[in-house]
Amino acid sequence: MPPVPLPLRPELEGLLPYGAPQLDVPVRLNVNENPYPLADDVVADIAADVAVAARDLNRYPDRDFLALREDLAAYLAGEAGVRLAPEQLWAANGSNEVMLHLLQAFGGPGRTALSFAPTYSMYPEYARDTSTAWVAGRREADFTLDPTVAAAAIAAHAPSVVLLASPNNPTGTMLPVETIKAVLAAAALVPGGCVVVVDEAYGEFRRAGVPSALELLAQYPQLAVSRTMSKAFGLAGARVGYLAASSELIDALRVVRLPYHLSGVTQAVARAALRHAPALMAQVGSLRDERDACVAWLRERGLTVADTDANFVLFGTFDDRHAIWQGLLDAGVLIREVGPDGWLRVSIGTPDEMTAFKDALVEVAQL
Ligand code: PMP
Repeated sequence: MPPVPLPLRPELEGLLPYGAPQLDVPVRLNVNENPYPLADDVVADIAADVAVAARDLNRYPDRDFLALREDLAAYLAGEAGVRLAPEQLWAANGSNEVMLHLLQAFGGPGRTALSFAPTYSMYPEYARDTSTAWVAGRREADFTLDPTVAAAAIAAHAPSVVLLASPNNPTGTMLPVETIKAVLAAAALVPGGCVVVVDEAYGEFRRAGVPSALELLAQYPQLAVSRTMSKAFGLAGARVGYLAASSELIDALRVVRLPYHLSGVTQAVARAALRHAPALMAQVGSLRDERDACVAWLRERGLTVADTDANFVLFGTFDDRHAIWQGLLDAGVLIREVGPDGWLRVSIGTPDEMTAFKDALVEVAQL
């Protein structure tokens, strides 16, 4: 029998699924998770609410998850000082799915999504999966984004979606409000319109006094600000991401989502965790301090370190970064080989995990 061909889309030929290695090693600092497991009282609350939700699992969940959207709006009012209506909030299975919804609604064949590299490696995948053309403009050598360069790229490519991570992954770079405003001004001139997505997956780790792009929502109807519960809340396993935007923009996402995409269990877990936001945010402060200490330590040892406002640090540069990555792994410390050649990224762990990382790095890189 001749082999039966699978009609794979040609652009997927030979591609592998995205994802960092999931290895069972003592110190895992490779995917920017929160290193602290949820506290016992949070676990108990989640379990109790999931038990209640389980009684209704014979029914489809609330398709519009309005209670969760109200809770998210209340959380953002406290965290960023921006009061939004529940209709301005959207949620999905991780901010990955939120951004896929954005590309499904605003990208598509004949359209372009634009970002500035180095940046989050899933962005081109959302574009590919929605048959949207992908263009990566450039960041400066220090990974900042020059507003003039950004505006020129938008004028040249007329994208329908611009994706800006702030803080950026893998570099940690925060975008000043002025730069976001320059991008929004350039986007407003794109014929047919252009949605600007500010991806604040690491937003809670920004420095005190730095505003969130949420503050710009009232003035810019083409702005969408994406957030996640995976990082600051320590809830990566629950898969909850969300988005704030105008209710018109959110209505477009409601058209492309699968019906009941957010399970009753997910909604219950997210709402229970949001009730504990203040306690969870207390750990964000210590992770920020640990991050700044890690940056200082790496610089004292002569390494180059990108300024970071996130819960990870990009550092280098190494002639053979793979050898350093492998040496650390052999010592039981898993970090990420990502970013421009020669650089490595470490997520901020507990003090003990950071000590293990530093001890291993001193050994492997002979610092
Ligand atoms: N945006 C950025 C910049 C990220 O680094 C990540 C996760 N690594 C995400 C979005 C997606 O996170 P999640 O789907 O868990 O919300």
